[in-house]
Formats: sequence, C-alpha cells, structure tokens
Amino acid sequence: MIGQESTVRALQNALGQNRLHPVLLFSGTRGVGKTTLGRLIAKALNCEQGMGPEPCGRCQNCEAIDSGRFPDFLEIDAASRTRVEETRELLANVSYLPSRGRARVYLIDEVHMLSGHSFNALLKTLEEPPPHVYFLLATTEPEKVPVTILSRCLRFALRRVPVDQIAGHLALVAGKEAVPSESAALGLLADAAQGSVRDALSLMDLALTYGAGSVREADVAAILGTLDHEQLHALASAILKKDRQRMGEILGVLHALEPDYAGILESLARLFVTLACRIELGPSLPAGMRSEDEARFAVWASETDPLDLQIDYEIIRKGLEEMRAIDDPELTFDMTCVRLLAFEPDRAVRRAPAGQDPGVPTSDWKPPQAGPGREAPSDSPPAMEAPSVPASRRPLTQAEWPSYVSDLEISGMAREILNHTICTQYDGKTLMLELAQNFANLLTTQLKSRIDGALRERENRDLEVRIEIGDGSGETLAKQRACQMEQEQEQVQAELNRDPNVQKLLERGAEIRKGSVRPTRR
Ligand SMILES: [Zn+2]
Repeated sequence: MIGQESTVRALQNALGQNRLHPVLLFSGTRGVGKTTLGRLIAKALNCEQGMGPEPCGRCQNCEAIDSGRFPDFLEIDAASRTRVEETRELLANVSYLPSRGRARVYLIDEVHMLSGHSFNALLKTLEEPPPHVYFLLATTEPEKVPVTILSRCLRFALRRVPVDQIAGHLALVAGKEAVPSESAALGLLADAAQGSVRDALSLMDLALTYGAGSVREADVAAILGTLDHEQLHALASAILKKDRQRMGEILGVLHALEPDYAGILESLARLFVTLACRIELGPSLPAGMRSEDEARFAVWASETDPLDLQIDYEIIRKGLEEMRAIDDPELTFDMTCVRLLAFEPDRAVRRAPAGQDPGVPTSDWKPPQAGPGREAPSDSPPAMEAPSVPASRRPLTQAEWPSYVSDLEISGMAREILNHTICTQYDGKTLMLELAQNFANLLTTQLKSRIDGALRERENRDLEVRIEIGDGSGETLAKQRACQMEQEQEQVQAELNRDPNVQKLLERGAEIRKGSVRPTRR
C-alpha cells in the first residue's frame, strides 16, 4: 500500500481492537488504492495466522484473496451490474455463514453507478448487516451516492498519492527488477500519473518497451509528448520573467517536437497553482514537491506577483478550452504563450480603497503599452488544410497493422497506446483493436478521440474505432521495435568487443557495464 497512511492506521487500529465498522466507504480518484485497501481488509479479517492488523500475505487464504479466488471475498464492479435483480441476487447469500474464512467481504467498486432500486435493496442489508459480513464501498464520485447510504458508512477520503512517493515506489520496483532507470525519468512518470500508482506503473511499462529495457528521461518525455522537467521550468521561467527572446527559442524547439500541447498547458497550470499556493500559503503547502525544485520555487515565489499568476492561470484555462474547440493545438498553444507574455494585471486593482469591491482581476486585463521589442516573438503559420490522404478502403490484416500504425500521423501518448495494439478486425466501417490489460487504464477519452481522429483522417471516412482489452499476446509495433532495438544493441556490442582498443582495455581488466552501450535512436 503506497500512501494513505492515516487511513491505513485508522483501519489497523480498528482491526486490532476487533471493532471494524461493518460498512466502509472509500472515495478518491482512479488508482489511489481503493481496491488494494479492500483486499488488505479482506486479508486482515481472514488470514489463517489470526485476525489482526497485519495479515501474513502468504497463507492460503491471503493468497486466494490476492488472486481473486477466495469464495468469501466478492469483488463487484457496480458499473457493469447496475440492475436491481443483480443486486438482489448478490445480497441473497448475505445471511449465510462464510464458507471458508471468518468473514465474508463484499467490495463494491464504483458504487455510485447502482440504480435507485439497487441502492434501496442494498440499504436494507446495510441497516442490519449480519455479524460476519463487511461491506467495502468504493467510489470516484461520492456525491452521487444517496445520503441514506452515506449515513450508514464510515467514510475515508483517499488522497492522491504525492509525486515523491510515487517516484519512490517506481524506483523500488525498478530496483527489484534490476531495470536501469534515471531518477528524472521516474519523476516525469510520477508527475504524469497524477496521484495514481496504477497509472504510474502502466506508464513505466510503456517506457520500458520504448527504451528496450531501461527507463530514460528523454524516452519518457517523448512518450508523454511532454517536456522534460527542465524544459517545462524553462518555459515557466520565460513566462514569469516575460522573457520574449527565450520564449521565441522555446516555441521553435516545441514546434519541431510536435508535443502534446494540451498536456504542456496542464502541467504549466499545475506549476503556477503550486507557485501561487506557495506565495499565499507559505512553503509548507502543497506537499509532494520534488526536493530539488524547492530552491527554484523559493526564488520564483520571491520574484513573482501573485496577481500575475491569477491571470496566467486564466489564460491557460482559456487556451485549453480553445484547444478543445479548435482542431489546431499548435496554433492555440502559440497564441496562449503570446497572451501569457502580453497581458499584465491592472496593478491598481489591488490598491482599491477598502469597502470597494476590487472585482475579479481578470476582468481588467489590459495589454501593456506596445513599444519597440514588444512584438510577439512567434509568427504562427496560418492553419492549413490537411492534405487529403488516399483512402486505403480495404480490410487490414493483423500482419499489416504494425506498419500501418508506423505510418500514421500521430504522436505522444496516443501513438504509444496505438503502438501497443493489435488489429483484430476491419471491415471498412468498424476497426476493432485490442490493447493489453496493463495499458488499458491509460486510455483516456481524450486519447481515444485523438486516435479516432488520426485513423479517420488516414482512412478518409467516418469509421468507428473500438478498442477492447486483450491479454497482450500478438505482434504489435512496440514489440517489433523492441526486438529490433535489441538486435541492434547486440550488433553494437559485438562491434565494440572487436575494436582493438577496447580489447586492450578489456585485457587490462576493464569491464563494459551491461546495458551501457546503446545504438542511437533514429
Ligand atoms: Zn495470511
């Protein structure tokens, strides 16, 4: 269990005193550990070593719970079983004694998805649960759970796991599996996971296949289509200092990278909020910052007017809105950057006499006097019509899919996800893809619509794209590339070994560190 220390402690105390509340509700965003916690409780109640706060994790009961084979631990996904008949069926056995363990544990995930009738059926049981039964309800949207249900629950709000802690966990996993990893790379992954340990692990898997067995910062930045840590801070610094020349250089670099522009704006917004909190609330908040950033934030905090951050945040939000409406992220991104340089708050607002409502500062945006050197540094090219692509309009075979994906106009995370798919069917109207389970949680609706868009454009028709979850077998572009990288690596290593100078060094007892020789990526 990573993070959630206070919740874990409270539950352990209750378990230790044999006073666990029979109905618990865990709320929190995706991947913060709701089901992991549920399993821990089921184990604590049913461990063969005795009931208590520290289940052994090795006995038959513990192992059966971990692998989902324990008859008295029922995991139910409410999203797929919303009907009242299904709920009744589920609750029919509640009053029977557990068949193998001491307690029967129901874990109902996404409980807010149940229908009104289902909630009523559940409520009857929750009002008087039999002594051997525990209900663990998990939800990402607690406000959608009826008050009648909530009043029966002991509630725990799980927080997003801090970046530092996720990065630490990734380092632990990488260390255990002897995977070479750069700590900056793990930091980027942890950042991108937004508090979800599960997402962080999936992202690391992506990075591992991409980097042929190692996790490097440049690779991770390429996958995420984002800027690496230093690049993002350089961009932030250019905005805060209104450094037009630097901004021009950065935009030039970005255009060549074709990054995930929306992702960059999101990161920038988060950075400015962190900075604003730091200025207004002091250095204790918010927690979870990487320690090497502390010094940089301290300097920014001393040099920045918080009013500027208010406006910057508004401008970025507006930019993100426009990005959703206009299908040209680069154009919108450039305009947003220009606005970030051009607009300054009306600093008189803050000095408004007491009693007068100074109003929201953003309503008083006004550009500073234009003068020499004040012109926007970037001349954005006008939006161009996409060149029409000849439609292939014929069924795609599984074998053709990897090279088809390779030619597709798409970048960043959406590309990485596609690289890991296989094509199971394409009849010209519906394209069926399969994505391995361990990457499924990364497929957001935003990424899905980017994938849809790229495929529709390529096929030049309004096709339906369905992505199903598979077992990860089958030839994907990612696997082909990883295999190729490995072969190239072996070649390079062999050439190096044949080099007479290297041979001399080897004779003198030098060693070539495993994995330190890499072919250059084209
Ligand atoms: Zn056990």
